[in-house]
Amino acid sequence: MNIDFEHPSMYGTVRHRCVCRTKAIGQERCKRKSRHATKTCWQHKAELTYEELVNLYLNRIPQCTSITRKGSRCSRDSRFAGDAPKCTQHHNMTLYLEEEEAE
Ligand SMILES: [Zn+2]
Ligand SMILES: [Zn+2]
Repeated sequence: MNIDFEHPSMYGTVRHRCVCRTKAIGQERCKRKSRHATKTCWQHKAELTYEELVNLYLNRIPQCTSITRKGSRCSRDSRFAGDAPKCTQHHNMTLYLEEEEAE
């Protein structure tokens, strides 16, 4: 496998908090934001090995596929896998709509 982590398609429109921890005492979560698919900021992405990046990339949580009322893509992480993964809120909304249509 050979993944090009610098490819433009690796960068989405939504900024996520970096998943890495700082090396400071207490190991606080990194405060930087990242649009990269691995959810690592530029600094941590440079520090991680290729194998670590591949791991993060393959185990990433897909973003919710719903569109918000403002017309933009929902920025939450999905909690329910499937063809169209949804975040908790949109998943509940879908269930509600399906119940309505069933009546
Ligand atoms: Zn970071
Ligand atoms: Zn959502």
